[in-house]
Amino acid sequence: MKVTDHIKKAKGKTLFSFEIIPPQKGRSIQELYNNIDPLMEFKPPFIDVTTSREQYIYIDKGEGLLDRKITRMRPGTVGICAAIKHKYNVDTVPHVLCGGFTKEETEYLLVDCHYLGIDNVMALRGDAMSHQKYFEPSKGGHKYATELVSQIQNLNTGKYLHDVVESEHKSDFCIGVAGYPEKHMEAPSLQTDLKRLKEKVDAGADYIVTQMFFDNKKYFEFVEAAKAFGINVPIIPGIKPIAVKRHLQILPQVFKIDVPEELIQAVENCKDNKAVRQVGIEWGVKQSKELLDYGVPVLHYYSMGKSDNIKAIASELF
Ligand code: FAD
Repeated sequence: MKVTDHIKKAKGKTLFSFEIIPPQKGRSIQELYNNIDPLMEFKPPFIDVTTSREQYIYIDKGEGLLDRKITRMRPGTVGICAAIKHKYNVDTVPHVLCGGFTKEETEYLLVDCHYLGIDNVMALRGDAMSHQKYFEPSKGGHKYATELVSQIQNLNTGKYLHDVVESEHKSDFCIGVAGYPEKHMEAPSLQTDLKRLKEKVDAGADYIVTQMFFDNKKYFEFVEAAKAFGINVPIIPGIKPIAVKRHLQILPQVFKIDVPEELIQAVENCKDNKAVRQVGIEWGVKQSKELLDYGVPVLHYYSMGKSDNIKAIASELF
């Protein structure tokens, strides 16, 4: 079932969902199940599964020589989506990236999703690879998420890249895209970024999931600004509980987001990461309660590999 249909069916009741990251190559999918199991009591109608960019790895060839290879460290997104859908009887949302894929490869991936009964996809550009300063599209790939949304929409109307037979059986993907309450790091202004977001919606995006934020005011202002831009699809807030002290540096650096002074102080006063995790939970509960009161369609949590803190937050709310 489509994410937007789940939202409609809920008739104004806020839903719970979360995002997981595939295990590293060579690790067991059981790790994921161990994180999903404790969250299933909150009845998520859908679970997102991220896709990782490929990165350089360095292989020691001996005698001081290093070989450099490009590889995707966490493959398996579509397979994981199918496995979770089957095991838990829940809808899944694979993240589909422009970066690292040709349009042809994307089409194959979407065909797989369609055959597997996956009804939703999250269309994203992806970041630059770690050795790059700026995002570079793959040869034969898309430059912006809008182009990817258009490709998915084309498929929904039975238009493949190179039509072979008259299309009788069309996909009908519900398409999610990313939104940035504190603007995307490359956008010159929030207004410009909103204009680009509107383009994604006009190209066929059905809903938006936001980048993490720690100050709800940023989300409320973003929703209002988006409405003023004529963006009328559901805007789902993405929430990440702070879990370790290092997050105070890493999250603003990687995602270009602000952490409120009050939260910084509370984390800095912690004597260990167990205490930080508790602060993250308390902040997450406070943030979530306020978002619930505002009437958000879904509270969507970034699990980043561990779910105990999300369980603690959800236990207070659902
Ligand atoms: P776009 O919408 O293409 O925007 C990228 C930048 O280009 C923005 O600054 C935008 O303003 C600008 N822009 C857009 N169109 C144009 C145009 N026509 N001309 C000029 N400028 C333009 N990354 C992963 O690698 N894997 C994941 O699974 C993943 N999941 C995510 C989930 C969510 C909810 C979010 C918020 C992000 C996720 N990301 C993921 C990160 C995402 O890939 C990065 O934030 C990336 O830098 C931008 O992706 P986008 O889809 O927002 O790009």
